[in-house]
Amino acid sequence: MSLKEIDLHQQLKKYFGFSQFKGLQEEVITSIVKGNNTFVVMPTGGGKSLCYQLPALIEEGTAIVVSPLIALMKNQVDAIRGISSEHGVAHVLNSSLNKTEVRQVKEDIANGVTKLLYVAPESLTKADHVDFLKKQKISFMAIDEAHCISEWGHDFRPEYRNLRQIIQRIGDNIPIIALTATATPKVQEDILKNLGIPDAKAFKASFNRPNLYYEVRPKTKNVNSDIIRFVKQNEGKSGIIYCLSRKKVEELAQTLQVNGIKAVPYHAGLDAKTRSRHQDMFLMEDIDVVVATIAFGMGIDKPDVRFVIHHDIPKSIESYYQETGRAGRDGGEGHCLAFYSYKDIEKLEKFMSGKPVAEQEIGHALLQEVVAYAETSISRRKFILHYFGESFDGETGEGASMDDNVRYPKKKHEAKEEVEL
Ligand code: ADP
Ligand code: MG
Repeated sequence: MSLKEIDLHQQLKKYFGFSQFKGLQEEVITSIVKGNNTFVVMPTGGGKSLCYQLPALIEEGTAIVVSPLIALMKNQVDAIRGISSEHGVAHVLNSSLNKTEVRQVKEDIANGVTKLLYVAPESLTKADHVDFLKKQKISFMAIDEAHCISEWGHDFRPEYRNLRQIIQRIGDNIPIIALTATATPKVQEDILKNLGIPDAKAFKASFNRPNLYYEVRPKTKNVNSDIIRFVKQNEGKSGIIYCLSRKKVEELAQTLQVNGIKAVPYHAGLDAKTRSRHQDMFLMEDIDVVVATIAFGMGIDKPDVRFVIHHDIPKSIESYYQETGRAGRDGGEGHCLAFYSYKDIEKLEKFMSGKPVAEQEIGHALLQEVVAYAETSISRRKFILHYFGESFDGETGEGASMDDNVRYPKKKHEAKEEVEL
């Protein structure tokens, strides 16, 4: 189908019911429909799925979507089936299917019904799948969560490393679309290199969150009272407090409760029922604060989280960005407060000591960036965006005044005195 014949807005409305594209979606989709290798970097929630779903629905053949998590794939397939009445328009191909189911999926693909085929990378390595797909009309390959390819990413998956080879076995000229929310230049380089698409048309959304206020305070033995004071000053507002360990989560949640704050704990050690109850209480605003490990947050879309506190500093700037990014999704106020002590860095270093040397080196380098962020006296927004390869004008950029360093500039010796030894 030539691009001239397609009205993308009309297709957007028809399939998704939206009347506007979000951010760079239209440009990305145009690039994909033209058959370009395409690279998309957009923050979480930016609308990356639609960038490949819409072209898949309007192009001839089947688009193969590589995704790391079965749960994510299932969600997406259910959502697609909700928007198209055609049975079999989206399928998952993975190890959970029995022989009959696999046969059905393949029949739908061969008949041209299936527009989106979600696969885990390990399913793609199976010889009979590859042999089958080779004979089909494949519109393009989309690699979602493409940072899984890179050891510098926060979610490295070795299976992602074989994708290039597999894609080549399926077909020579299949366009490749890589999508990620990880913006660091190192990870991006790895993605393009590993997928063999240095020529890809790249679309990068800004990672600036101008409504978020960034603040770092020294972590002293009074950190709990500092947190209690902050939460009380923000009474009635929703917030998340991240801690490193489950134990700390439990302790702090209790301390807050004792102090009259409506808080619940959340971590992977709680049973599924309790976790989902606590999550619901937060969404329904029966409580104000969730004290959590990093297990909390993925896929939680509460638009009016007003603060994110880090009781413990995270292990990378990416994690910090992801976690603070859960504040102020609605564009309203979002206060991001991190408590920092170098002792916590040493603790994180120690956790890594059992790991392979290469991993330790990467972990160490990522941590050093966290130290630099915590100890910097320049604009924190500028630091974060620079880390993500984006330049930011500290004078005129959007949100330029929204951090402690800019608002309350410190002289160097003052900053030092505050740090507890
Ligand atoms: P990402 O993968 O980038 O994190 P998603 O693809 O999950 O983001 O999309 C995030 C949300 O944005 C979803 O709820 C999706 O329905 C919504 N969305 C995507 N595109 C549009 C659009 N053009 N208009 C309105 N909402 C959109
Ligand atoms: Mg996504």
